[in-house]
Amino acid sequence: MGAGRVGDALAERAYEPVIGLEIHVQLSTRTKMFCGCELSFGEEPNTRTCPVCLGLPGTLPVTNAQAVHFGLMIGMALGCDPAPRSIFHRKNYFYPDLPKGYQISQYDIPLARDGRLGDIRIHRVHLEEDAAKLVHAGASGRIHGAEASAVDFNRGGTPLVEIVTEPDVRSAAQAAEWLRLLRVTLRQLGVSDVNMDEGSLRCDANVSIRPVGETTLGTKTELKNMNSFRFLERGVNAEIARQEELLREGGTVSQETLHFDPRTGALSPLRSKEEAHDYRYFPEPDLVPVAPTEEMLERARSALPELPAERAERLERDMGLAPDTARRLAFRSDLGDFLEEALAADSEADPEAIANWVVGELVANIGDADPADTKVEPQALAALVKMVGEGTVAGSAAKEVLAILVADGGHPAEIVNEKSLGAADSDELAGIVDQAMTDNADAVEKIRAGNDKAIGAVMGAVMRETKGRADGGEVQRLIRERL
Ligand code: ADP
Ligand code: ZN
Ligand code: MG
Repeated sequence: MGAGRVGDALAERAYEPVIGLEIHVQLSTRTKMFCGCELSFGEEPNTRTCPVCLGLPGTLPVTNAQAVHFGLMIGMALGCDPAPRSIFHRKNYFYPDLPKGYQISQYDIPLARDGRLGDIRIHRVHLEEDAAKLVHAGASGRIHGAEASAVDFNRGGTPLVEIVTEPDVRSAAQAAEWLRLLRVTLRQLGVSDVNMDEGSLRCDANVSIRPVGETTLGTKTELKNMNSFRFLERGVNAEIARQEELLREGGTVSQETLHFDPRTGALSPLRSKEEAHDYRYFPEPDLVPVAPTEEMLERARSALPELPAERAERLERDMGLAPDTARRLAFRSDLGDFLEEALAADSEADPEAIANWVVGELVANIGDADPADTKVEPQALAALVKMVGEGTVAGSAAKEVLAILVADGGHPAEIVNEKSLGAADSDELAGIVDQAMTDNADAVEKIRAGNDKAIGAVMGAVMRETKGRADGGEVQRLIRERL
């Protein structure tokens, strides 16, 4: 076989992406992981420091109990088993953002392991401390001709939880979708701001590909800090394409850490991948193991709220909502809460109808805002949806009413009266339909001749005349009755 044929065979081979995610979550504790400094939110640089988080000799770390509590909550929410006893290690490396010369992190015995969120298995959940922040002065801050950098130690020592998934993700879109689920779950737990712009949620993606049908894993690369859902998806797709091209050309993927530039779409090597032994991990001698008591475990367990995945399931099961609607309501707890309050206002309310109005028209009006912060009351939406169901207000008029409710508040029945938005009554409507059919005799002929689209002209005339106060379905019925 000639080289060309081999090339063709390689070129035709289909590849499957394999992706595992590593997520760092900054915890919203009051103080840092191993000292009493308060967490920093944009304070003047180096104002939230002490000898412990500056790594001065002779200081001793003390584990933050609230960070352990939050870590246990996260582990449990992700279905992991908390370790009866986990320990901290020193991960040694030199970098100016790490004053001790090592990061305190959990290594071979993490806080919790073996869980699942959605369809992705969780490998481990562990505690560690964040590094400080380097501030690059650029050309304005030259020292001996070189661009200088400064260190702000405020962030150094902030509690982090690292979540590592199994390599279960099979596409870039699935990675982004799953990260959304993780983010709403963490938000619901109240353990972090989960703000990707501000770095309180950071995601690294490990990517490899393999021929479809192959069961062993290919060599992976690690994409650092994919700091938005969009970058994550774009970066992973770019890396999959790069690896595919390499393999199709007969090359091999080398294990390395890559930086994705969202502006150019380019992937550039940061460093060749270091191995665990490069870090000279050894047990932190200054800290006692984390050994949660039954009481600590119980406290974490009982602090768990209903999680988005559970809520979506409940909304689907108990209210008969479509899976996509249920997920949208569960993933935005403000919308889910609004729906449930609207339903509580009226025991005969139709959950599906209200849910559709919440995820459809209400969201179209309020965007990302919490409906509780707008003027529309859940009871008012329930009443409006009921009026639509009973046919006392047409769908298009009801949309107008909702916009008024969102902007000014009030009661739908009163708004309908004030603005004369009530559905045209049947005698009135029948008269309007008769007139419209007379005025549009051409269109009526076309409908009779089998051109169903021509009905639009007659409907349009009725809608104009009633100013949207008529129900489209009812108008169609009346027209067909008269054909
Ligand atoms: P490392 O020792 O390089 O940190 P780990 O085994 O700790 O690698 O895995 C880190 C992450 O990479 C995990 O999310 C894991 O699921 C993922 N991963 C491991 N091997 C692969 C692979 N071949 N392809 C894609 N992801 C992988
Ligand atoms: Zn400190
Ligand atoms: Mg690792």
